Amino acid sequence: MNTATETTVAHASTSDSAPLYADVVFDRPLDHAYSYAVPDELRSRVGVGKRVECSFGRGDKGTVGYVIRVTDSAPLREVKPLSKVIDDDALLDDELLKLTRWMADYYLCGWGQVLSAVLPAGVRDKAGTREVVFVEPMPKDKLPKFFPTVTAKQKQVLDLVKKATEPMEQAVLAKAAGVSVGIVSGLVGKGLLRKFSERVERLPAGLVEMDLASRVSDDTGATPPNPSVDTLGSPFDMNADQLRAWEPIRAAVEAGGFKPFLLYGVTGSGKTELYLQAIERVVKQGKEAIVLVPEISLTPQTIERFRGRCGRVAVLHSNLTDAERATYWRQIAAGKVQVVVGARSAVFAPTRNLGLIVIDEEHETSFKQESTPRYHARDVAVMRARLANVPILLGSATPSLESWQAAVDASYTILNLPSRVENRPMPKVQLVDLKHEPKTPGKFYAIGATLEHGIREAVKAGGQVILLLNRRGYSTHVHCPACGHVAQCIHCDLGLTFHRTKAALLCHHCGWDTPPITKCPKCGDPAVRYQGFGTEKLQAELEEKFPAFVIQRMDSDTTSKAGSHRRILDAFKEGLIHVLLGTQMIAKGLDFPNVTLVGVVNADVGLHLPDFRAAERTFQILAQVAGRAGRGEKGGKVMVQTYTPEHPCIALAAKHDYGSFAKLELAFRKEHQYPPYQRLARVIVRSEKEQAANDFAETLAGGFKQAVARQSKPGEPPAVRVLGPAECPVFKLQDYYRFHFQLQAENSGVLHAVLREVLTIAKPSGGVEYQVDVDPYSMM
Ligand code: ADP
Ligand code: ZN
Repeated sequence: MNTATETTVAHASTSDSAPLYADVVFDRPLDHAYSYAVPDELRSRVGVGKRVECSFGRGDKGTVGYVIRVTDSAPLREVKPLSKVIDDDALLDDELLKLTRWMADYYLCGWGQVLSAVLPAGVRDKAGTREVVFVEPMPKDKLPKFFPTVTAKQKQVLDLVKKATEPMEQAVLAKAAGVSVGIVSGLVGKGLLRKFSERVERLPAGLVEMDLASRVSDDTGATPPNPSVDTLGSPFDMNADQLRAWEPIRAAVEAGGFKPFLLYGVTGSGKTELYLQAIERVVKQGKEAIVLVPEISLTPQTIERFRGRCGRVAVLHSNLTDAERATYWRQIAAGKVQVVVGARSAVFAPTRNLGLIVIDEEHETSFKQESTPRYHARDVAVMRARLANVPILLGSATPSLESWQAAVDASYTILNLPSRVENRPMPKVQLVDLKHEPKTPGKFYAIGATLEHGIREAVKAGGQVILLLNRRGYSTHVHCPACGHVAQCIHCDLGLTFHRTKAALLCHHCGWDTPPITKCPKCGDPAVRYQGFGTEKLQAELEEKFPAFVIQRMDSDTTSKAGSHRRILDAFKEGLIHVLLGTQMIAKGLDFPNVTLVGVVNADVGLHLPDFRAAERTFQILAQVAGRAGRGEKGGKVMVQTYTPEHPCIALAAKHDYGSFAKLELAFRKEHQYPPYQRLARVIVRSEKEQAANDFAETLAGGFKQAVARQSKPGEPPAVRVLGPAECPVFKLQDYYRFHFQLQAENSGVLHAVLREVLTIAKPSGGVEYQVDVDPYSMM
C-alpha cells in the first residue's frame, strides 16, 4: 500500500516552498476531478488515495472527496483550499487507483463513485479499531526539576509503570493498580508520566475463532513464512490431464507477467486442485493470491479446502459486519494474509504483492454487480491482472461465451480437463418429456411417474437425491379464472408468489407482501386459483409421496438464519437427509459422493425469458446440477423433466456437450449481433412519473441520433445501433416507470464515445434518473 504515498512525498519534497495542489474526485456520476490548493499546514498530510474535506457544489458545503493527484503545477483558475485531510494513510495504492480509474471510464460512472463503492464502509469510518490512550514514564530530561509529592495511590501506579517494559494502556494500568483513571491523569498533570493515543485493531468477536486472527494477532506485521505450505501439499498425484494443464500454469506463475488462462474442465475434473497448486507456488514466492468464487459457492466445504492448503486465508463473504470486513482489509493491506477468497468485491482486496488471480465458475452472472458501478468482477479481475502484471486463471465447466470466444481468438490460453478424476464417468442424463408423462386425474404434480420411481429406487439402494427447482415459494401464479385478474405487486409489474410458511403473497423483487386472497379483488369471484410450483409446494408433494423419507428444502427462505446453510449441508453429508430439494443454491459446487440421483423438476424455467442469454443460462444450470451426481464410487444419474427435450440447450446439456452448444449458440449470437460479437450497453430512464420518464427518454433519443451521426462515416451504416426508447420488459419496478435503450456496436470505443457525449450533457429534470449499464446482464 505504499506506492501512492511515496509518490506524493517524493513530489512534495522536490520543491519545499512551491504551492501544492490536489485533484479531488467526488461520489457523483460522470464527473471530472476538481483542483484545490493545499494549505501549508496540510502539506505533510495530503496524499494520493486519501480522503479530504473541501467546499464543493451548491452552498460550498464541506464535502468528502478522494485525492487522485498531488501536483505543484498551478491550475489555470483560482482554486479554493482544502479544509481537512481525513486519512492518515492512503486507502488505496497505485494499482487500485488505476483499476478504479479504468472502471469509471469503462462503466461510465464517476471515479469517486467507484472509490466509494470499492472501499468497504468500515474502512472509511475505521470500524474495528479503537482509539486507545497509552501512558509511559516521562523521559529523564523532561522530568520536573523538583520531584512533586505523590499520594499513596499514585505511588502504586508509578511502581507498576516502572516495572512495565512498554507503554501501558491507561485504563489497563489504572485497573491493575486498583485506582481510578483520574489518579493516572493526576500523574500526567504532575509531569511524571506522559500520555499519547493510538488507534489499535479491535478484532471483532466473529474473527477470533478463525485461523486468520489467531495466527496473525501475535506477529509483528512482517510477511511471515507460511508454515503450512511445505507440510500440507496435495493429498494425491495429479493425473495426466492435470499435469498437461499444470505445466503452462506453473511456467506462468514462475515467470510472472500477465497471462490469462481459460481452464475448461467438466465438473469434478480437478480444476480446484490446479488452483490450489498454483496458489501454493505463489505463496512460496512470498506473494498473494485472490480467489473469486460465486457467493453461493462460498460453502464451508470450499472454504475448508483453501484453509487446509493455503495457510493464512481471509474469506470475504456478504455476511461480514463492517468491522470484520475492515479488519480483513487492513490485515490484507498489511501483508498478513496470503490468500483472499471471496465473492465479487474480493477483486478489490488491497494485497501488497499480488501474484495470481483465480476465478472459479467464471461464467456465473452473480459476478456482475447490479448497482453503480455496474462492473463485472471477471472483467475487472482481468484488468487487475493486467495492471499487476500477473497470471489469471478463469475456470469453468461451462465457460461464458465471452471467455470462450476469447479463447477461440487466442487472447486467452485454453487448458482442457476433458474428464473426471480417476476416470469416474460423467453421469448419464435422462430427459423425461413431461408431455408424455401420465397425468393423475384431478391432481397437479410436479414430479412425474418416471422421476418418482427414480427417487424411490435411489433411496432404496442407499443413495441420496438432490432435486432442483429454481423457484421459491408455494404457488408462483395466483389468478382469477373468471376475470383473468392476476395477483400483482402494487409497486412492480410482477406477479406475486404465495408463500405458505409466511402465509403471504410476496413480491420477489421488492419484498412487498399482502395476505393471501380468497376471492378476486376485481370481480369478487371466490374461485381464485393458486397455480405454479415453487420449492415449498414441491416439498409438500414429496412429503406426501414419500412419507418415510427425510426431505429437506434449501432455498433463501430456509437459510436466512446464520449457520442454517451449514447445518443442512452437514446433515446431508452425514446421510440424515434422503432428499435435498432447493433452488440453484443446491446446483453449485457441492461435492457429496453419496448422491446417486439428481433430478431437475422443470428445465424450462427461465428458458423463455426475453433475454438473449436464456439458453446459455439454462445450459449452465443443467450442466452444473448434473455435476452434483455420481461424484463417488456408486456413480449416479440425472433425470431432467422438460416440455422441450428437443431444445438444443437441453439436448446438448444432457450429452455433456458444451463444445457443440457453444458453437451453435455463437452462431446464433453472430446472426443476431449479440455479445461476444457486439458490445452492448443499456440505458434505463426511470421516474415515478411516467410522462417525465418518457420525455427524458425522447430527449436522450435525439442526443443519441446526433452523436451516432458524428461517430459514423458518411455513406456507411451507423457505427452504433440504438434500439429504443421502449418500455422495459418489466415496465414498473418499485414504483418507477422505466424506459430503456439498447446500444450495440462492434467495439466498445465507439459505444463509449456516443454514451459519453450524450450523458455528460444530459441533465434529467426533477424526479427523473438514468442508469447506464455497460455489458448488461439483466435485460428486464
Ligand atoms: P473441479 O474443481 O473441477 O470440480 P476438484 O478439484 O474439486 O474438481 O476435484 C474433484 C474431486 O477429485 C475432489 O474431491 C478432489 O479432491 C479430487 N481430486 C482432484 N484431483 C485428483 C487427483 N489427481 N487424483 C485423485 N483425486 C483428485
Ligand atoms: Zn414489488
